[in-house]
Amino acid sequence: MSEKKVEYFRHNLNDDDIALTTDVLRSVFLTTGPKVAAFELRLAEYLGHGHVVGLTSCTAALHLALLRYGIGPGDEVITTAMTFCATATAIIQAGATPILVDVCPQSALLRPEDAEKAITPKTKAIIPVHLYGRMVDMRGFAELAQRHNLIIIEDAAHCIEGQRDGIRPGQLGHAACFSFYATKNITCGEGGALVCHTEEDATWYRSARHHGISKNAASRYTGTYQHWDMEMMGWKYNMDDIQAALLVNQIDRIDTYRSRRQAIEERYRNLLANAKGITLVEPVKDLEISSHHLFTVLLHPNISRDHVLLQLQENGIGCAVNYRAVHTLKYFKETFGFKAENFPVANDIGNRTISLPLYPKLLDNEIDYIASVLCEIADEALSVI
Ligand SMILES: *Cc1c(COP(=O)(O)O)cnc(C)c1O
Repeated sequence: MSEKKVEYFRHNLNDDDIALTTDVLRSVFLTTGPKVAAFELRLAEYLGHGHVVGLTSCTAALHLALLRYGIGPGDEVITTAMTFCATATAIIQAGATPILVDVCPQSALLRPEDAEKAITPKTKAIIPVHLYGRMVDMRGFAELAQRHNLIIIEDAAHCIEGQRDGIRPGQLGHAACFSFYATKNITCGEGGALVCHTEEDATWYRSARHHGISKNAASRYTGTYQHWDMEMMGWKYNMDDIQAALLVNQIDRIDTYRSRRQAIEERYRNLLANAKGITLVEPVKDLEISSHHLFTVLLHPNISRDHVLLQLQENGIGCAVNYRAVHTLKYFKETFGFKAENFPVANDIGNRTISLPLYPKLLDNEIDYIASVLCEIADEALSVI
């Protein structure tokens, strides 16, 4: 057992974020109020377009976006088999049927031409995922949506910072959904948001996130009491001021973090370029900006991934799997009758992928250590086959 310890993730909350949050904690009002409003404006400003609505999670954002377009029972929603299960469960929460599609073997991204083959008369929407931080071909998806009269909801849990063909998350889709879960690029432990195009949409989402009530709690408690009404069916998905205070200033630092993430990925790629038994996922193309959310490697099919995961951890290196393919998870197998071979590319990636530590606080000597340990383990595993 090694003495060295490299965590899988370290967040970037600093003393200023904590001080701002302490201000909220010392105030009277803890839930959705001025800090949430400030965060929403700041994120929209960063994205350069649209209206942002603060929520409790990305899963909630995906759920509400589907409901906004009346998607429910009897409808089909196309998404990728290579994603976190929440992308698909949000579709089920809305009452619709998730239709999984296999991914590009090089990038692991959903491609418009593959999604198109799954379109039926019941198809209402597509949820592409900007996986690992690289954006899907949103121009292609927007064109597809126009031709087939479909809604596009972007799962941008991995990608606030990305750009492709001059397009940013949420610009061409009807909505894009973000996550601030513990290991995401900016975080408040648990949290989410979506970006939409009009004030009318944002007003609907603000009501839907709060029971379908017309006034939010802050406007109810400032000034004299006024009766509120419940105008539509709603959920309990409102971001609170504690979460927003933790998040708001991280947005100012997000591009600095992104540059460091990119440098880390480049260092990994150089160190692993000739490693035996390891294949790297396609790097980002010129003129494309990735958020570099995850750095994943693919092990040779004959190497036991579990063995490598264990060995990395025995050497003090935190690691994860993003993701085992959605259709291979127990619930999906049992509910939809999926077989591993239904989506062979996602299945293969899901069986061979390992995520290595990738966060701005990761040091160069830690990257070098991780790469050398991984090379050694993979080389040894390959030699015993
Ligand atoms: C993290 C994640 C989600 C879910 O985000 P929550 O905020 O935890 O609901 C959805 N999709 C992808 C691709 C994710 O990585």
